[in-house]
Amino acid sequence: MRLVPLGVSGSFPGPATPASSYLVRVTAAEAAAAGYQPRDWNLLLDLGNGAFGALQRHMDPMALDAVSISHLHPDHCADLSGLYVYLRYHPRHGSLRTGRRPKRLPVYGPADAARHLAHSSGLSAGETMENDFDFQSWAEHKLVEVGPLTIEPHRVFHPVETYGVRVTGPSSSGGTATLAYTGDTDACSSVVELARDADLLLSEAAFLEGRDDVVERGIHLTGRRAGQVATDAGARRLLLTHLPVWNDPADSLAEARGSYAGPVDVAQPGTVYDL
Ligand SMILES: [Zn+2]
Ligand SMILES: [Zn+2]
Repeated sequence: MRLVPLGVSGSFPGPATPASSYLVRVTAAEAAAAGYQPRDWNLLLDLGNGAFGALQRHMDPMALDAVSISHLHPDHCADLSGLYVYLRYHPRHGSLRTGRRPKRLPVYGPADAARHLAHSSGLSAGETMENDFDFQSWAEHKLVEVGPLTIEPHRVFHPVETYGVRVTGPSSSGGTATLAYTGDTDACSSVVELARDADLLLSEAAFLEGRDDVVERGIHLTGRRAGQVATDAGARRLLLTHLPVWNDPADSLAEARGSYAGPVDVAQPGTVYDL
């Protein structure tokens, strides 16, 4: 399996990258070797502002197998409105022309996702996205299977209902691999459990020590706190993300390197990270 960040900008899109979105891909050969249907599998983690454009550089959105939404802040879910239009109104493949899609696209998220997204997308009264999206609410620790990928949601520490996810699937080097994605969170025991022994911890690091101490706790990690999570969890590699435009990535990296001795980088959009 591999991780392809589509957007890494924290809290809103930046000039060089959309807001949060990450594609997790399994090749047909990897799926077959793990005993699953031999085709490519594509799971999307979050779809923040601007990220739907980047997704189209990598795949036909019709071929998505599932979307996993950490929480309902727009930098993590706003572009579901664009995905909905694509699935419904595409002139050749849209559900409006073909009738109900053979299989509605599963969208996992917080309990209020269907109503919230219909409202924020400006749908008319009585119109829903449910002809195209199969909304399913996260239940903490209840496993969700997307072909060869298994998702375990962990409730984390953010002002709204938010879930980090552990995604386990076939490793590109044989056996299995685990990706842990924090969503948005501050330090908490749950995010350490989320990251336990992960091959790759994709962690938000929006804040900086000192600079953001004036903001109340329970919103974001700093580079130092993300590094501490990686250390406490025994994660094998740390990838920082969700840096807002006003962060110098070198500062976030330096903080993380002060609290974590393993390999650490800042996630780059379009780069392929093998697990
Ligand atoms: Zn965010
Ligand atoms: Zn948030």
